[in-house]
Amino acid sequence: MIFESIKNEAFEQIIFCHDSQVDLRAIVALHSTVLGPAVGGCRMWNYASEAEALTDVLRLSKGMTYKAAISELNWGGGKAVIIGDPKIDKTERKFERFGEFVERLGGHYITAKDVGTNAEDLKCIKRKTSHILGIEGETGSSGDPSPATAWGVFHGMRSCVKHTYGANTIKGLTIALQGLGSVSYYLIEHLLADGAKIIGCDIDQEKINRIAQKYHIEITRPDSIYDVACDIFSPSALGASINENTLPRIRAKVIAGAANNQLSMSEIGYEILRKGLIYAPDYAINAGGLINIYHEKMFPAKFSEGYNHKRAFDHVERIGITISEILDRSKREKIPTHKIADTIVEERIKKARK
Ligand code: NAD
Repeated sequence: MIFESIKNEAFEQIIFCHDSQVDLRAIVALHSTVLGPAVGGCRMWNYASEAEALTDVLRLSKGMTYKAAISELNWGGGKAVIIGDPKIDKTERKFERFGEFVERLGGHYITAKDVGTNAEDLKCIKRKTSHILGIEGETGSSGDPSPATAWGVFHGMRSCVKHTYGANTIKGLTIALQGLGSVSYYLIEHLLADGAKIIGCDIDQEKINRIAQKYHIEITRPDSIYDVACDIFSPSALGASINENTLPRIRAKVIAGAANNQLSMSEIGYEILRKGLIYAPDYAINAGGLINIYHEKMFPAKFSEGYNHKRAFDHVERIGITISEILDRSKREKIPTHKIADTIVEERIKKARK
């Protein structure tokens, strides 16, 4: 049944990790190691079923392959999920045991933080494996990925603006920002400094308050964000926010934001092209955090001068070039941007495999 469900995909290896003594049930998926070790965070989630956990880890690991490849990193894509409620099922021993499984993979899989896991959990995993990155607060760590993600989204947006309006900055444009969480917190600073006007929304009043204390932006209701007059619509909350109900309402010429899996289905990307809008493919524009953590691996404090913030952020800035290339090719070939991004990744992997 598992092989049947993945027969059309190029998944390399799926590892089921089990230890009843520490109540560990985890799945590690290595989607691709063609370009390098499979990198991707470890998620802990109270999945309704094992099938749901498997579906999630497969989907997420494939996403990591695409995100690394479009960013031209020498990394493949992987992911791990631990089945359990992160609020009540965490124990040090469980994470240590998970670390032993990661160690056994000999570096073909490198783990990191994801939804449901934190720096404390990662420290437990690290007791048993060195194949781990991004432990906030540790010497040589690349730290919180959100500022880097925001920096990448900002430069991706600028490329979209250049492509659409011919301008080098976002000055005078209005951004509808859906979600005022960690990434938006840093993104707002860059947008305002560039002269943009922001209309934001969040379902969490605390997040709105945090932003309002620091910045001057207009706030609207979450269900009204699709209708506001704006130049850029920026999905920065959850996935699938661009769908058949919301796309007809969006008044922006550009869709560019941090959220993963922004399009509810591939057909929406074709509709975006038909409408003459610009869409910055999610995994290309939001790869800043991954690029940042790549620098932690490439410049380890042990053997080099260590992680360097400026060098990493200069690299993240190149997301602007990647987005430009995707937009240009989409225009030339009259193919939606999300398909162009997939094609670039698949071409890159095919070439490396040869
Ligand atoms: P976050 O959880 O800090 O922020 C998301 C915000 O969206 C929250 O404040 C939440 O209340 C709000 N929200 C949820 N549903 C909403 C809705 N319907 N309308 C308005 N607001 C809503 O997450 P984040 O780290 O800022 O990430 C934002 C998005 O970017 C996520 O999709 C995440 O997967 C993606 N992403 C983040 C990073 C990173 O470095 N943090 C990297 C790549 C991708």
